[in-house]
Amino acid sequence: MRKLGSILGVLLVFAISALALVMIYDKGKDQKPLRYADVPQETIDWINTLGNDLNDILSSFNPFPIPTPWDNKGDYGNDPDSGLKTLEDDYFIFYFPESLIEKAKFCQKEAHKAIPHLKDMMGKYYYPDDMNGRKVPIYLTEDQEGYNEVLSKFIRKNGNQGSAGVTIFEMSPSGIYLHAIALNGKYAFVNDEYTKIVIWHELNHYCFFASLDYNQSINLPMWSFEGIAEYFAYEGERPSFSKNHIEDMRKECNLLDAYFPYTYQVYDGGRSIYCFMEDQYKVSGIKAFIKTLYNSGIPTSMKQNFSISVPEFEKNWKDNLEEFTVKRQ
Ligand SMILES: [Zn+2]
Repeated sequence: MRKLGSILGVLLVFAISALALVMIYDKGKDQKPLRYADVPQETIDWINTLGNDLNDILSSFNPFPIPTPWDNKGDYGNDPDSGLKTLEDDYFIFYFPESLIEKAKFCQKEAHKAIPHLKDMMGKYYYPDDMNGRKVPIYLTEDQEGYNEVLSKFIRKNGNQGSAGVTIFEMSPSGIYLHAIALNGKYAFVNDEYTKIVIWHELNHYCFFASLDYNQSINLPMWSFEGIAEYFAYEGERPSFSKNHIEDMRKECNLLDAYFPYTYQVYDGGRSIYCFMEDQYKVSGIKAFIKTLYNSGIPTSMKQNFSISVPEFEKNWKDNLEEFTVKRQ
């Protein structure tokens, strides 16, 4: 009898263990595996300090996986108190005051037009299926006041309120969670051409930051992501500089510094670096450079793709900056 009791005991323990395993499996089967199991401290610091007055990124690192699905139900624009209208399709949700309905339709069209170009230049576009169900939420605002209000819903610290647009995201072991892209009506809606540039610029940030390998040590300089976003949004159109600006860039812009001192250097200067890269290595060279950059950083990417060191590349770019004095015909 005693023996039977212990056999029953063993069976019971076995049954409970099996049940527990099934329950754990059930709970876990809908969860995607972690994409970034071990994010280095340097990368965490970089993400937490990315946004400043020189750029249009607001990012933070969250050490915990964000539960899925990442649908858009909790977004500020879905809050009835926001008074915002929505325009939604398979990939995007626009939130805007009623007065901006025509702008919203225009932005929707431009966002869709950007997708094949992003795939081509950045290597991949991130659909909701790639983002645990999340569509890209884009907020359109009438003026500075509306823009500040949207920013204040997502961030505690003051964002760069002088920007025409912003990309706000959180990075966790589950990947990039895009809180919002927002457009500042004060600047972004001066004309349709510029509206398109701002939309394409911010969507470029979305794809760039979703593509980085966060298991690596990442500490990319600002020109690398602002420059490609500008080069992409302007579709390769060349920036131009005054002679004084060219002289200043030669003195002040070091490609391995975290950032250049002035906004025009980060944006137009960054764009000129990619235009120069195109002159030297064609558009295919830029695509290869970006692809390697996601995993291996700038020095390795330049070495691997162009057989050149960063200081050599920097010298060549600076030597050729006169090419950007006037726009080419
Ligand atoms: Zn930007």
